[in-house]
Amino acid sequence: MQAKIGKHFLTRLPYEEEENDMTDQKTPPLYLGAHLSVAKGMKKMVEQAVSIKANTCQFFTRNPRGGPSKKVDLEDRDQAKALMKAHYFGPLVAHAPYIVNPASPDEKVRQNTVKILIEDLAKISELGVPYLVVHPGSHKGEGAHLGIERSAAVIAEVLDQTDSGVILWETMSGMGSEIGGTMEELEELLTKLSGHKRIGFCLDTCHMFTGGYPVHESFQEIIKEFGKRLGKDRLLAVHLNDCLQPFASQKDRHANLGEGLIGWRALEDILKELRPLGLPINLETPGGVDNYAEEIKEIRGRLKIPYENEQDREGSL
Ligand SMILES: [Zn+2]
Repeated sequence: MQAKIGKHFLTRLPYEEEENDMTDQKTPPLYLGAHLSVAKGMKKMVEQAVSIKANTCQFFTRNPRGGPSKKVDLEDRDQAKALMKAHYFGPLVAHAPYIVNPASPDEKVRQNTVKILIEDLAKISELGVPYLVVHPGSHKGEGAHLGIERSAAVIAEVLDQTDSGVILWETMSGMGSEIGGTMEELEELLTKLSGHKRIGFCLDTCHMFTGGYPVHESFQEIIKEFGKRLGKDRLLAVHLNDCLQPFASQKDRHANLGEGLIGWRALEDILKELRPLGLPINLETPGGVDNYAEEIKEIRGRLKIPYENEQDREGSL
């Protein structure tokens, strides 16, 4: 069912040249960052990422509650790219605004969702960002089956009308009428799109935990099931969050790392399991930018992968 997709193709960044080919490296770099604000431009965002020793980051394509998308400032983008290249960044991740709902039964919402996603895929391509994280949506009482049908149709339309950018469906906690809270639902979505090559997934550790997947006990097994149902090479990004709400509660409240019910020991195991995949891993913890810096430092310390070492991976500039 699933077309084999080349991860390298998907993650190649516009500034990567042939001689920077990293496919032969045994262990990929640890791409670790956080959700940052792009309100002051892409260069400022990348500067902030560097200041917290991140080598990837995530940002909203526009105001999360809606509104028009800002035009891409090409000079700002090029400066950001140069900075990313100098610091050996991995792929950045864009996140669609919360107002999109591909599963909505409301025709106006559906049309607006299609419009926004088409615009945002064009925008991220211009920015040189490969991924757009999208929530599969809420069926608003119509039932998961119909919601999945609607969501798949919307995404098919968006993919049809664009030719670049990969949509990453986020794993959800299944709160309210949210779809995408189980791997079965995500698999159904993927099947309805015939395993389109511009579809991938973004795994959120907190959502999985409250969605009923014991990431705190058996992450390895969960990844195995993920691979079987969805394809391991479609797992293209991660949100690393601890969780305030109980296991399987289907409530989505992120916690700072080590301050929630997942805890550092499990988070460390999760990171070790994810490490060989070379994915962008971003924090969406509530503590703010200084806290991100602390968490990144703590993770790199625990895994014994100093940020400085990543900078030497390809020799001097
Ligand atoms: Zn999200």
